[in-house]
Amino acid sequence: MAETESAEQPVIYLARREEHRLRNGHPWVFSNEVDTTRSPLTAFEPGDQVEVLTHGERFLATAYVNPRSLICARVIGTRPGEWLDAAALESRLVRAQRMRDRLIGQPWYRLAYAESDDLPGLIVDRYGDIAVVQIGTAGMERHQGDIVDALRRTLAPAAIVARNDVATRALEGLEQTVEVLHGDAPGTIEVRENDLVFLAAPMSGQKTGWFFDQRDNRRRVAQHAAGRRVLDLFCYSGGFGVTAAAAGATEVVCVDSSEAALDLARAAARRNGVEARMSFVQADVFDALRAMAEDGRRFDLVVADPPAFVRRRKDLAAGVEAYRRLNRLAVSVLAPEALLLSASCSSHLARERLHEVVRAAAVRGGRSVQLLEDGGQALDHPVRLGMPESAYLKAALCWLA
Ligand code: SAH
Repeated sequence: MAETESAEQPVIYLARREEHRLRNGHPWVFSNEVDTTRSPLTAFEPGDQVEVLTHGERFLATAYVNPRSLICARVIGTRPGEWLDAAALESRLVRAQRMRDRLIGQPWYRLAYAESDDLPGLIVDRYGDIAVVQIGTAGMERHQGDIVDALRRTLAPAAIVARNDVATRALEGLEQTVEVLHGDAPGTIEVRENDLVFLAAPMSGQKTGWFFDQRDNRRRVAQHAAGRRVLDLFCYSGGFGVTAAAAGATEVVCVDSSEAALDLARAAARRNGVEARMSFVQADVFDALRAMAEDGRRFDLVVADPPAFVRRRKDLAAGVEAYRRLNRLAVSVLAPEALLLSASCSSHLARERLHEVVRAAAVRGGRSVQLLEDGGQALDHPVRLGMPESAYLKAALCWLA
């Protein structure tokens, strides 16, 4: 039997020699790593909290479980008795918020980034006095009320919106919902970033409405935009394009397939007084690039920030092919001695793999290529050491002669 204290708690036992990843800081247990003869997962309800023990009955972590999911347990503590309850949620949210307040300086940021902030399955984005939460797991869903209470106490927001409409919730047996949990949520809200104002739609936009993770990469683009012709591919609500125009780009062309996103981008252009130098194209990026290449359109700075082409590991080969096609086409509209910012938010695509995709695209276009800066996600998306998946964003700024 385990130590007396553990024996009173529900436990799951790992199979022999399956403890190393957890010992090294990784917060997930996969269902094939559990000794299900000793601790059948079917004994648990989604969201139950347990102790995770090694095969040799040593304490490893506390976790919440979901017997329906391949990721059958997520670590919530590393000491016995460290459970996820209202008090722990609040103190972790407070700790996460203090870090952002210290590092970002204005209240538009990702306040909580799931496992990286010891809040597995919970994302909170803050837009001034509006909080948008996204709950991805059954274990966190149980605490939705506690999360709302904690945010109301610590943030006193005008509104709290739940964007519980991420596809991965299906893997946890959860429904897709968008709800206002507190206050009144306006249709569009302001986002302040890098001294500019943007617009986001928290109830209907992508993710929670804005991609805070690109904040530093947008600033990088601004550094090189003056006097240049800029192309912003997959522009969404204009994050890169408007930033480039405000930094003095002579011309900015924004391309996205979503008319709703382009409306927000146009509004942001007007708000920042740069609409005269910007144009907006509603099209599939691949089609638009082919047409522009044929017309001989050329740009001095191209930003390619597509949606994740590799969502699951088994889609890696097809996804890499999509990145290859995109980067080849992007190179085909690059003027001589120009910059390409090639991004990928797929955690399954290794940084080196993206470099290889860009290199191959340049070679195919008969261009030489050099990597200038290897950007990643902004610091309100901290990486959990020991959890490589938490470092997902790559943004390779390259010079093509
Ligand atoms: N660069 C943006 C974020 C991009 S999100 C920023 O800095 O905020 C991905 C965007 O790609 C979404 O707006 C989506 O509408 C768009 N999109 C997805 N597939 C597309 C395609 N094939 N052609 C054009 N746009 C596409």
